[in-house]
Amino acid sequence: MEFIPAGEIIGKAHQVRTVSIKQSPQLPDGEYSFIDTYCADPGCDCRKTMIQIMFNGKLVSVINYGWESATFYENWMGSSAKDNPMPKMHGTSIDIMSPDLVSPDGILALFNALLNDIWSA
Ligand SMILES: [Zn+2]
Repeated sequence: MEFIPAGEIIGKAHQVRTVSIKQSPQLPDGEYSFIDTYCADPGCDCRKTMIQIMFNGKLVSVINYGWESATFYENWMGSSAKDNPMPKMHGTSIDIMSPDLVSPDGILALFNALLNDIWSA
């Protein structure tokens, strides 16, 4: 599956969320941009978003966010998934491709704190 930024799908209506961090115990001070990307495969129904986090113009972390229930993803991946360790898709998790240039725990905590703000606005 290929993931592309929402801005390339819905155009200028999409806003990149930027957050200023100061004196976090886990993250360096500065501005963090959250760029949500979606699966571009029309035949795919993976129902998740990958959020790229930019800091100082660099990609520092990648978070997966699956908004369906854990059961949905188990069914979607089929019974073979039970025999293989599958990446967690429900909820938030650090993507295996994440460069982890900032604390994964810190960025997950920040993202979870912002979640309602970003997607229920
Ligand atoms: Zn997909």
